[in-house]
Amino acid sequence: MTASRNIVVIGGGPAGVFAAIEAKRRDPAAAVTLISEEPCEPYERPPLSKAVLLGKAAAADAPIAGPKGVAGYGVSLECKTRCTAIDRAASEIVTASGRRLRYDALVIATGSLVRQIPTLPLGAARVHYLRTEAQARALGSALKNARHLCVVGGGLIGLEVAASATELGVKVTVIEVLPRILARVCDEETSARVEDAHRRRGVDLRLNTILTRAQAEPDGSIALKTGTDETLMADLVVVGAGAAPDDRLAASAGLRTDNGIVVDAQCRTSDPRIFAAGDVVRFPGPHGLTRREDWRHAQDQGAVAGRNAAGANDEYRSVPSFWSEQFDLYIQGVGSASAKPDRRVRRYGSGASQINFELTGARVAYALGINAQRDIAVARRLIERQTAVDPVALADPMIPLGNFLKAKAAG
Ligand SMILES: Cc1cc2nc3c(=O)[nH]c(=O)nc-3n(C[C@H](O)[C@H](O)[C@H](O)COP(=O)(O)OP(=O)(O)OC[C@H]3O[C@@H](n4cnc5c(N)ncnc54)[C@H](O)[C@@H]3O)c2cc1C
Repeated sequence: MTASRNIVVIGGGPAGVFAAIEAKRRDPAAAVTLISEEPCEPYERPPLSKAVLLGKAAAADAPIAGPKGVAGYGVSLECKTRCTAIDRAASEIVTASGRRLRYDALVIATGSLVRQIPTLPLGAARVHYLRTEAQARALGSALKNARHLCVVGGGLIGLEVAASATELGVKVTVIEVLPRILARVCDEETSARVEDAHRRRGVDLRLNTILTRAQAEPDGSIALKTGTDETLMADLVVVGAGAAPDDRLAASAGLRTDNGIVVDAQCRTSDPRIFAAGDVVRFPGPHGLTRREDWRHAQDQGAVAGRNAAGANDEYRSVPSFWSEQFDLYIQGVGSASAKPDRRVRRYGSGASQINFELTGARVAYALGINAQRDIAVARRLIERQTAVDPVALADPMIPLGNFLKAKAAG
């Protein structure tokens, strides 16, 4: 009788959870172990800056694997366990307590680390970063006594925190070094619309503004100095300065890394028995090696990495997407944006809904929507099927978007 294989997955985010579940599904005889340094059943991060901060939900309400947890799928979860090394020669991982676990196949899904601003380091009094459930709880309770919050960084997470804090009655100032918010994810028109939504609710958005110094004051507030020598006073600061891939474990094991773990289309690292997925990887995308930091990518790529660790040879082909919720705006992007699309098409729907398309030839390559959930779902299918579209008809809100699905794939 052959011994069942050991599949070990490091990291309890969506990439790790879906890798573990799919590995077990593909090879039910395998012993699948999920190693997570966090103390609880893996939970979703997106609600942390939204419902959890607003006090409408707890992270425990959104377990990634659903109500039965990963155990319900036959996966052994080891919480509060940090993996400190991968011994490739022995095919073992090493934990912080010195324990060794043998693997036949390994999946690394260690996610990202928040980018720190040297003037506002993690752990400084009244300075918050947001990545984990514990950080969300700490920020949520600090907001209860806050009058003025300063958010450093006008990206998705910073703006979601700004919106949630405003809804809680806290006065919010956002400092953004670039001339517009969401510059990394949205076109200018969408940025302007989101900007307007924040300003109308009283958020003080400071664009083209650099933070030069931060000083704790004796009264417990923080004085933030800007490049124009202005001083902004706050009693709480949230830093949303982006994230970096946590590829330290892989790098120290000698795997190929380059601003993330480099994997092939099958999520294989430079060691054929080690796979990687999620925020931590750079994978072959339509515009070369790509890194993404969004939930759907982590889930879909994790699933492929898990199946391949269990013996499949699937390619990761998912269409990337993200979403964000700020006040009454539901922002979604699907596909691969390009710096120079062949054509841009705007489609304004009923009410406040809007969708901006980017075309490559006659195909939709990217769509960015505001309050256009149904149309974005159709746009995803147009992108997946590479359907040819007529740009003039695409802009016409009287023609249901679903009609385009009947057309043939572009040649
Ligand atoms: C506040 C917040 C809001 C977000 N909102 C959205 C949203 O609205 N829409 C969207 O698309 N995306 C959103 N995201 C992004 C999305 O959550 C991430 O892209 C996704 O979680 C990445 O999944 P991952 O599994 O690759 O990594 P992660 O979720 O980062 O999980 C990695 C896990 O590995 C653990 N780990 C790392 N090293 C070790 C080790 N050595 N040993 C053991 N465990 C280890 C970490 O502690 C962590 O639990 C949000 C993220 C945050 C933080």
